[in-house]
Amino acid sequence: MFKGILIEGSRGDQQVSLKSIDEAQLPEGDVTVDVAYSTLNYKDALAITGRAPIAKTYPMVPGIDLAGVVTESSNPDFKAGDEVVLNGWGVGEKHWGGLAQKARLSGDWLIPLQAPFTARQAMAIGTAGYTAMLCVIALEKHGVKPESGDILVTGATGGVGSVAVAILAKLGYSVTAVTGRKEEEAYLKSLGAKQIMDRADLSEPGKPLARETWAGAVDVAGGQVLANVCAGMKYHGVVAACGLAAGMDFPSTVAPFILRGVTLCGIDSVMAPKADRLYAWKRLAEDLSPELLDSMITEVAFDDAIDAASRLMDGKIRGRIVIPVA
Ligand code: NDP
Repeated sequence: MFKGILIEGSRGDQQVSLKSIDEAQLPEGDVTVDVAYSTLNYKDALAITGRAPIAKTYPMVPGIDLAGVVTESSNPDFKAGDEVVLNGWGVGEKHWGGLAQKARLSGDWLIPLQAPFTARQAMAIGTAGYTAMLCVIALEKHGVKPESGDILVTGATGGVGSVAVAILAKLGYSVTAVTGRKEEEAYLKSLGAKQIMDRADLSEPGKPLARETWAGAVDVAGGQVLANVCAGMKYHGVVAACGLAAGMDFPSTVAPFILRGVTLCGIDSVMAPKADRLYAWKRLAEDLSPELLDSMITEVAFDDAIDAASRLMDGKIRGRIVIPVA
């Protein structure tokens, strides 16, 4: 038997509890992992609170991320004792996830724990941090350099935002951090933000084209915020869009794209190919300060994870959560 969070019931009528689960119930897979740490991402909080239909089948163990040690493997790439990390691939949505002491999954989804990170640090990064890195890589691929101008990061006190601010600042970019939590100004400056902007300044409908201000942007908000970000980009500016914290809609016009040559890059972490993941994790090891990563962490006991999901949804958690599950 092992401990795990279980979402039971059905869509719209789900019950979530920390349960004792029989190992015989684990799903199919060629690698079994003793999970050491997991985390809560925005998507996990949506799944646990039931605020969006993330669990595709019931019962479901949530958790789109895990870090742990392989105990059994018939996959040629992994053997017992290997330290591994999993991000995404529909785990915690369609396949039992990381918020449990054991997981059985396809070895094709796993990557080795990236040195020098510990399992705890890898979960402090988690999907949110790895997505932030994918966003920064997208800006680089499209030619945005520190000398190109200011970079805007929305949802800056959240998981993706905090990691994006820290990485961009370390790489020498001048970062403007957008937040709805003005009281977190000192935190954002400690991560390296040069300027703080009130989220309210981007939340109302604006002009199709605003003053040319940003060379690049990492956007976790979507909705009206993303539309205003696009409108305020400089000529040939690049926006990496990964989230929907402000909404799924995109009330923009084509003006930024056809008159300023703005590029909108969509970022998906869930199905990203293995090579992209390995590169992103290698870059995280190079470009994310371990001290700043530590300053983003709130450790939540496994017993408190379900309540923490509601706090995350209510915008009451800063940075990243780690959950020791072992
Ligand atoms: P967090 O909850 O940690 O952070 C979200 C942040 O968004 C909040 O902290 C808040 O920051 C900001 N925010 C909240 N509401 C609004 C709003 N109405 N308008 C603008 N900003 C708002 O979540 P994550 O960082 O883990 O994820 C952020 C987004 O990115 C989510 O939508 C998530 O689904 C998405 N995502 C997408 C991935 C992909 O593969 N495409 C992977 C990972 C995440 P503040 O208080 O500072 O304003």
